[in-house]
Amino acid sequence: MAKELQLFNSLTREKEVFTPITEGYIGMYVCGPTVYSDVHLGNCRTFVGFDIIYRYLLHNGYKVRYVRNVTDVGHLEGDADSGAEDKISKKARLEQLEPMEVAQHYTNGFHEMMNLLNTKKPNIEPRATGHIYEQIEMIQQIIDNGLAYVKNGSVYFDTPKYHASQKEYGILSGRKIEDLLVETRDLKNQSEKNNPTDFAIWIKADESHLMRWDSPWSVGFPGWHLECSAMSTKYLGKRFDIHGGGGDLKFPHHENEIAQNVGACGCHPANYWLHSNMLLMNGRKMSKSDGNTITPIQLLTGESEHLSKSYSPMSIRFFMIKSHYRSTLDLTDEALAAAEKGYKRLMEGYKTLTKLTSPKGKAGSIDADLLKLVNGVPEEMNDDFNTPKALAKMFEIVTIVNSLADKKMPINEVTEERLRQTEKLFHDFIFDVFGLQDETDNSAHGTLDKVMNLVLEMRADARANKDWGTADKIREHLTNAKIVVKDGKEGTSWTLN
Ligand code: AMP
Ligand code: ZN
Repeated sequence: MAKELQLFNSLTREKEVFTPITEGYIGMYVCGPTVYSDVHLGNCRTFVGFDIIYRYLLHNGYKVRYVRNVTDVGHLEGDADSGAEDKISKKARLEQLEPMEVAQHYTNGFHEMMNLLNTKKPNIEPRATGHIYEQIEMIQQIIDNGLAYVKNGSVYFDTPKYHASQKEYGILSGRKIEDLLVETRDLKNQSEKNNPTDFAIWIKADESHLMRWDSPWSVGFPGWHLECSAMSTKYLGKRFDIHGGGGDLKFPHHENEIAQNVGACGCHPANYWLHSNMLLMNGRKMSKSDGNTITPIQLLTGESEHLSKSYSPMSIRFFMIKSHYRSTLDLTDEALAAAEKGYKRLMEGYKTLTKLTSPKGKAGSIDADLLKLVNGVPEEMNDDFNTPKALAKMFEIVTIVNSLADKKMPINEVTEERLRQTEKLFHDFIFDVFGLQDETDNSAHGTLDKVMNLVLEMRADARANKDWGTADKIREHLTNAKIVVKDGKEGTSWTLN
């Protein structure tokens, strides 16, 4: 077990001791969502995973600047780098909306989900469309360094030239440029590129493209990979500590990010690259393009063919903590039900612990066992944020606590000091590090009931008057307050999630 924080660096494919660039401070960048449709639970898995990493770094006393972007331009259909339609632009065209309306709508939805799952807000949440100037500037630097070329108003990154000078295209993903070069892809505009591995960093907009900006090369828009290079450099500097994202972003997105940063600034952007693994549903990657998705709302309401019942936000969060961020996680009804049970057992264990007191006296062997487990929890987390192993240690503690409470073990086997130390550990890890909330605390339920009756009456009035704005606003606020409203045959009911 690790006494100091070690993390698995995708760049070196090794576990390394974590040393920040500036002692006590950490710069962390995580690729955010592309806001063209509702976030699904797979996306949430990645963001909850990095939330726990962020929380653990804060818990260890680091001052962290956490930047997580919102992709609102440049991400093309099929993750293509040119020749395909922009995802947000397409949605806007199909629904006859402003692209910014599409982006705002799904950004709001994403924030609501993040709130429900109790993830901490990043310190900066930059949008790609708000950083066109910085992206143009970076493209110019890459051109000036001779690593990009202009073709018919678009700008392409010259991968073989970059590889010839740096010998490192493929350094993160382990792909070989020689192999990539022979892979041909049947994309429109492919012929425009000098080499199939080259990727667009500026794309000339055709007539139908709704989002467009002036640039030295054409009226167009930036390539998807560029925004993260430009925004991480702007807010965290040319070189920062941690860069994260889902494992599916390693190639081409992160590989190209490294190439752009080295191409523009002459150095790698991040010292440590962290990648979380995929959420699967019944064995297949959860993915928007495959239609194999479930949204958090479906879990909260239980309205899905894959589920037998609804699950609360904290059961969902617990389900994610139960697996290591670098392992795949398969979403099944059984796994969720097990997580719900585990969450309750942990919370009840904590409550029992807060009530346990020990007479002053000599400690027995249980005291030493408990101390070992208490020290073991952060040690497991220091081992590349091993949440399942840390949780397993906490459940061992719960077993001891329950035995002490049931008097199956004599309470004078453990000192008061150890109990309070264990209680503090539980408090810190359950609430601060794992970010779980107590869903069983409904002492104010009676008052809430009365307030809810009033709110639901107002909502019913608004709907009767076809005042959808007010009705939606009420629902949105209730969702934020973790209250789920169900409209059934017998009328409207609500539950606390
Ligand atoms: P996107 O909105 O497609 O740009 O994805 C946002 C984030 O969610 C990225 O970091 C992806 O790697 C991540 N992601 C997408 N699908 C999954 C999945 N099934 N499991 C875990 N993370 C995912
Ligand atoms: Zn990114």
